[in-house]
Amino acid sequence: MQDFFGRELERLKRKDSYRWLRTMEGATEARMRVDGREVIVLCSSNYLGLATHPRLKAAAIEATERLGVCSAASRLIAGNNELYRTLEERLARFKGREAALVYSTGYTANLGVISAVVGERDVIYADALSHASIIDGCRLSRAAVKIFPHNDVGALEQLLKSDTGFRRRLITVDGVYSMDGDLVPLPDLAKLAKQYDALLMLDDAHGTGVLGERGGGTAEHFGLDDPDAVDIEIGTLGKAFGSFGAYVVGSRSLREYLVNRSRSFIFTCALTPPALAAAIAALDLVQQDPSYRQRLWENVRHFREGLHHLGLSTEPSVTHILPVMTHDRQRTMALSERLLELGVFCQGIRPPTVPPGTSRLRFTVTAAHTRHDLDRALEAVEKAFREFALL
Ligand code: PMP
Repeated sequence: MQDFFGRELERLKRKDSYRWLRTMEGATEARMRVDGREVIVLCSSNYLGLATHPRLKAAAIEATERLGVCSAASRLIAGNNELYRTLEERLARFKGREAALVYSTGYTANLGVISAVVGERDVIYADALSHASIIDGCRLSRAAVKIFPHNDVGALEQLLKSDTGFRRRLITVDGVYSMDGDLVPLPDLAKLAKQYDALLMLDDAHGTGVLGERGGGTAEHFGLDDPDAVDIEIGTLGKAFGSFGAYVVGSRSLREYLVNRSRSFIFTCALTPPALAAAIAALDLVQQDPSYRQRLWENVRHFREGLHHLGLSTEPSVTHILPVMTHDRQRTMALSERLLELGVFCQGIRPPTVPPGTSRLRFTVTAAHTRHDLDRALEAVEKAFREFALL
């Protein structure tokens, strides 16, 4: 039986699909050591640079000293410590919604929300570029799943028009598409959802904290004033918020329903006190101090312009996630390896994470990068792309 694992791994290597773990050394900052080499990290989700912020660290240390490092049970048993209430009240206020519910990760939030909200008699309409956790949630739900072409509002409307006989209908989309950096046409989808009596679920993992004047995310970016335009919103605390965990916001009854019916909420350990306390501190910073967002967007502009100046396209991105298409898997991974030698860490992205033929280098810029980091990275990109005859 052990032979199977070896054979399968060989097959993955032959297909250039083999994955392995790199060891990151040092604090979670713009410069770290990877496999012993100092590099500029351009593939992390520490978008606002808060992962090592003194206020987050102090909050985590204080919570550890006071409450310990483990909540020691699921939330419905004995793990629902006092920090949850503060975090959920503040998240709900921040998002202008009635209620929030904190999950252990964004992955399990998508799994647990989708599979609780729809079932066998229902249908899900999912964007073709949905995150893996949305796809897995769809599969787990046993609902009919219809994939509509990426951001194609017309195609979605056709499906909504022609489908009848389902009990509930759920549209699921990402706010910022994680591998392309483009945005969902949220106002059009919100209108469609209301018109056809479907629930709209938004995964704003990459938008929250960075988009909108207040960092409110994709809905704020589009100026969607109606708090009920999106029925269910999911986000993570492990990216812009520099901590760990995830949340769902929506109506009070949605929250209560999920506490009762969402298996990935019910049957897992509560988050640790330091993770919760750091998330609360991050939420305060995101709301009080717009300078992190300003620095992020200045950095994005600078790096994007630098790539364009080299002749590299970042289409279709309009955000801090900047894909440069390299198409071929092998070339993509070799290019990523060469960049690492030149002191830049940008993980190559291949199928099945992205569709076949669209392998890419996916750069993520953060507020923690300095101008010097970005200029040095651009020099390395130029050198590597020239060596690969891509410039
Ligand atoms: N949704 C999207 C769009 C994501 O990109 C991610 C993380 N890569 C998740 C959900 C999962 O969030 P978490 O890392 O908190 O599990």
